[in-house]
Amino acid sequence: MIIQLPGKVKFIIDTLTDAGWEAYAVGGCVRDSVLGRVPGDWDITTSASPEQVKGLFPKTVDTGIQHGTVTVLEGGEGFEVTTYRIDGEYQDMRHPSEVVFTSDLMEDLKRRDFTINAMAYNEKEGLIDAFDGIKDLQEKKIRCVGNPEDRFGEDALRMMRAVRFAAQLGFTIEDRTRQSMVSLAGNLGAVSPERIQTELVKLLISDHPEEMRTLYETGMTAVFLPEFDAMMDTPQNNRHHCYNVGEHTIAALQNIRPDKVLRLTMLFHDVAKPVCKSQDENGIYHFYGHPNLGARIAREILRRLRFDNDTTDRVTALITWHDHRPQLKEAAVRRTIHRVGLRQYPDLFEVKQADTLAKNRYKRKEKLDYLEEYRRIYQEILDRNQCLTLKDLAVDGKDLIQEGMEPGKELGTVLEHLLDHVLEVPEDNTREKLLELLKTERKAE
Ligand code: ATP
Ligand code: MG
Repeated sequence: MIIQLPGKVKFIIDTLTDAGWEAYAVGGCVRDSVLGRVPGDWDITTSASPEQVKGLFPKTVDTGIQHGTVTVLEGGEGFEVTTYRIDGEYQDMRHPSEVVFTSDLMEDLKRRDFTINAMAYNEKEGLIDAFDGIKDLQEKKIRCVGNPEDRFGEDALRMMRAVRFAAQLGFTIEDRTRQSMVSLAGNLGAVSPERIQTELVKLLISDHPEEMRTLYETGMTAVFLPEFDAMMDTPQNNRHHCYNVGEHTIAALQNIRPDKVLRLTMLFHDVAKPVCKSQDENGIYHFYGHPNLGARIAREILRRLRFDNDTTDRVTALITWHDHRPQLKEAAVRRTIHRVGLRQYPDLFEVKQADTLAKNRYKRKEKLDYLEEYRRIYQEILDRNQCLTLKDLAVDGKDLIQEGMEPGKELGTVLEHLLDHVLEVPEDNTREKLLELLKTERKAE
């Protein structure tokens, strides 16, 4: 097996080995190279101590020196070089209580999570594959290094990582590994929300977001996202739907491009349905008010999982409007764009389309035709550069003051009022026209 190492990686490995140490590319980059995927980053493992690594390279950063990691900067690029280590006892299912350095590569590979992530490579020794990682890559299996119960007991996040790698690579989780996840899912409660967020996002923006189902089946969402379990347990007895809320959500995830905001929006767009469910006299289910309440619940969840404000704001805005259907008249669409916020477009169209395609075929053509026409009108409004916000209005507060109005809150109300008019009659968005309008209205008062 020959892996083409990037020049800078080869240089770092050569520098370390020329100084008498062992050094290998290790983990994700070896896995991805064997699979013919482009590695995100190249990590290096070495028998040299962090101090010795620092002595060999002019530019380094102490990224995680207590864990033995030094970042070596080569031509503006950073490479993590980590000293072979053994993780000591895990007392809290998250952090090893101590990290011990070792001179034995095998000890370092043994502490890694999965066989496919526990391979090392350099040009002199070739591929070091002590745990049959290649075989598992060929069989498309996620399998723990060693006893899965011990490994998940040490660090509960590994269970989520297993599902995340299955989602990224299209692999299945080996039986015993999966069984241990079912027994130990509860331990995920001890893991920090930040680490959970990282793995959840990687899973969501992967090729197989349907792996959310595995998180549910193994009992992991019950721990960090019980709202998802509620969706999986909520049927939708109405003619627009063929799935329960959870399965509809999974289909919607698969129907949208792998963008963080869009995938999070689909994950939570119907999160309030379990709470909003009602049944009419014909036994048909309805979910009145679910978009607004859904946005509120999603905001709580995103805060709980420590998402940033920008992501949270964008996702909740899209959820709020995902089911809104303006009349397909230009003025109505302009008013809608103003209310929803130009920023939510064109994402909102993608959300609505993914949602529609995840329902059954009832009136699908009509729904898609509606969306296409909505989009066409939106595009025309943009192409004509029509005014959609106060900022685009041909007059501002200063103009009104010049016209003799008092500064103060009323200015804002008057501007909103003029904007209302312009949304209805876009050609009136000129200074002269608006000031004239203002004068006639004030006379009439
Ligand atoms: P990617 O960077 O593409 O997400 P990766 O495999 O490089 O995937 P990282 O999180 O960057 O994943 O970790 C690098 C390597 O460190 C892994 O391949 C694995 O060998 C080891 N590793 C990372 N996290 C853990 C963990 N929680 N438990 C055990 N080993 C781990
Ligand atoms: Mg990595």
